[in-house]
Amino acid sequence: MNRKIILITGASRGIGASIARLAAERGYGVCLSFMKDSLAADALVAEIGASGGLALAVQADVSREEDVLRLFAALDGRFGRLDGLVNNAGVLDVQMRVEDMNASRIRRVFETNVLGSFLCAREAVRRMSTRHGGAGGAIVNLSSRAARLGSPGEYVDYAASKAAVETLTLGLAKEVAAEGIRVNAVAPGIIDTDIHASGGDPERVERLKSGIPMQRGGSPDEVARAVLWLLSGEASYTTGAVLDVAGGR
Ligand code: NAP
Repeated sequence: MNRKIILITGASRGIGASIARLAAERGYGVCLSFMKDSLAADALVAEIGASGGLALAVQADVSREEDVLRLFAALDGRFGRLDGLVNNAGVLDVQMRVEDMNASRIRRVFETNVLGSFLCAREAVRRMSTRHGGAGGAIVNLSSRAARLGSPGEYVDYAASKAAVETLTLGLAKEVAAEGIRVNAVAPGIIDTDIHASGGDPERVERLKSGIPMQRGGSPDEVARAVLWLLSGEASYTTGAVLDVAGGR
């Protein structure tokens, strides 16, 4: 198969869905994973197929190792190659101070955002690294501006998990740089998706936009374009970088 294949986790909606659409438009075959929303994932696969693209949706909770192994096995079975991974699946929980957080909340955020990114990166490296007979590739991790702003009073757990994602990006980039794999991160600011509703604040973009230097929230497509650039050969000498897509925030 000549078509390059990209795996995007958490791509049933939001930023992941935009990345999947744009990747398909640019000629990549896409494997998109989702957690619960099979209807949205199936609709996106059908939409990509109707435009002449190639897509596969696989249900997988990235925080569960057995699910990640099943996800990559499905990808191997259908496409037989992997050229890029986007670690996009990520969660936050309702806004609260650290003193009010229980362990299960913090564990869910870290297991999805950090453990999930590690497990998927591990499987991608096993397939793409020249050390393992692969042809090289690229990994893009979704961080957040929260990693360096801290998100006080909202979700310091989420911010800390994204700081870990940035350190994963830096360390892994150096580890596999001589094996044909580039590893970078995109750090979005406040982007208009459902994630704010899952934090109990669906109007967050509207509420905070006057504090953003560009005076508006970003769109998922604006993040997708940065991710696609980092995946592409246009970014051939860029690795270990964190690219802010945050309207100056
Ligand atoms: P979103 O609209 O809430 O969508 C989250 C996606 O992740 C959904 O496809 C969801 O699947 C999937 N997902 C959730 N938990 C999962 C799990 N355990 N395993 C696999 N998939 C899972 O989020 P978004 O705003 O597009 O955010 C995408 C990424 O960008 C996240 O990493 C987020 O932290 C980061 N980010 C977002 C913003 C922002 O302002 N929106 C800013 C900075 C960074 P289902 O639909 O099936 O539930």
